Amino acid sequence: MKCSDIQKLIPAFLDDDLDNQDLSLFLSHVESCSECREELTIQFLVSVGLKRLEDGKTFNLNKELDNLLSDSRRKLGARKYLVFISYVLEIAVAALFALCLLLLIAL
Ligand SMILES: [Zn+2]
Repeated sequence: MKCSDIQKLIPAFLDDDLDNQDLSLFLSHVESCSECREELTIQFLVSVGLKRLEDGKTFNLNKELDNLLSDSRRKLGARKYLVFISYVLEIAVAALFALCLLLLIAL
């Protein structure tokens, strides 16, 4: 993906609204591209910073952004694991189904 494509995904990322594939591409891109990382920081500051100002709480947005990125990475890992498990289950079900068919034919 190009930088412009990645930057279009930033609002969806901040809303936790990216699918696994986009999230994976997004995370690895912002880790290696300083331009997109900076754009993400700015949009994060604007969206989260404004909310915090309204709450009147103190905040450390750089740390929060780091937390958000590492949380997203962890979530992505968990989601990929779930996808993997669901494939395994599907294969198991298909195998059982095939076995039942074979048994029916054999009888
Ligand atoms: Zn970039």
